[in-house]
Amino acid sequence: MPDVLTYVLHYEGALNKNSLGAVSEGAARAAEIGGQCHAVVVGGGDLTEELCQTLGNYGATKVFRAKGPEGLAQPVIDVMAKVIDENGHGYALFGGGLLGFEIGAGLAARQKAGVTMEVTTVRAEDGKLVAERPILGDSKISISHYQGLGIIIGRINAFEVKATGGGAAEVVDVELEYSPWSTRASMVTRGEQRGADVDIEGADVLVAGGRGLGKAEGFQLAEDLAAAFGGNSAVAATRAVVDAGWYPYAAQIGQTGKTVSPKLYLAAGISGAIQHKVGMQSSENIVAINKDANAPIFEFSDLGIVGDLNKILPKLTEAVKAKKDS
Ligand SMILES: Cc1cc2nc3c(=O)[nH]c(=O)nc-3n(C[C@H](O)[C@H](O)[C@H](O)COP(=O)(O)OP(=O)(O)OC[C@H]3O[C@@H](n4cnc5c(N)ncnc54)[C@H](O)[C@@H]3O)c2cc1C
Repeated sequence: MPDVLTYVLHYEGALNKNSLGAVSEGAARAAEIGGQCHAVVVGGGDLTEELCQTLGNYGATKVFRAKGPEGLAQPVIDVMAKVIDENGHGYALFGGGLLGFEIGAGLAARQKAGVTMEVTTVRAEDGKLVAERPILGDSKISISHYQGLGIIIGRINAFEVKATGGGAAEVVDVELEYSPWSTRASMVTRGEQRGADVDIEGADVLVAGGRGLGKAEGFQLAEDLAAAFGGNSAVAATRAVVDAGWYPYAAQIGQTGKTVSPKLYLAAGISGAIQHKVGMQSSENIVAINKDANAPIFEFSDLGIVGDLNKILPKLTEAVKAKKDS
């Protein structure tokens, strides 16, 4: 069957952006192979009929809604397995993130299906969907074809959210008894990651950190400098460091992150890969600190500083503070 089933995460009545990207992608690709895109949602009373219907605006024609704990993988696997068994979907598509990985992997085991993670492109070929993902340090592309159910888990932010203006999606309530192991875990609390609420797209000054910061704690240097600038300043990051868990995905700049154009973009320990460049090249002033004089970032910087950021950033922070105090 050419239909695509997606999972949509929500929190306090708001639908997750990555999930909406998966729905948009699923709808576009399903249409190319003569199918439809459906969504599964699991949660409590905040999953209103109206909220579920809005998924029609991103291309979902049907939303399967089940009562259950939100934000845990196993209950969602139970629901998706039942929906797939009863409706014969050909593909399950996820927007990425840890929960998407957990659900996709669990669903693959349950349904004996093929699974591909970290997918950056999905395309139609001979009436079927094919997934592409970068491998070997992003130097090559691996292509997955599927026999039977194909489970495709995107890289976070790989799928663009596209509102199609489609009408309300049909909402179908799913009744099921969860597997005993699915109800053993419960959500105790949900917290926000450091910097997750930061608005890098609206900032005038961005201090962006890369792998050169060495570890998650290294971001303190970037945060101190941004704080010294004050006002409309924020900290941003490269894909390499958000993938490593050093900084939140919300701060990622580039091809699969956000596009920014601040007045000042200060890159610390960033090599300047093309996928990063496309997200920040229209910044008004680009300053780069890198210990490697041949780093590509210097090719498109207005000012390049060759040296160790561990020595330069604290001095810069002090200099900015002194200037502001004078
Ligand atoms: C499909 C696809 C999409 C991608 N999307 C994105 C994206 O949206 N955004 C993105 O950023 N990347 C993206 N990437 C990844 C991108 O190709 C690079 O791998 C990534 O940008 C590298 O991050 P980095 O500069 O932090 O790390 P590195 O490339 O490892 O660079 C670290 C730099 O720090 C310098 N350094 C080390 N120590 C110090 C020190 N003490 N002082 C000063 N300098 C130091 C080094 O000389 C080096 O230049 C994507 C890749 C693919 C294939």
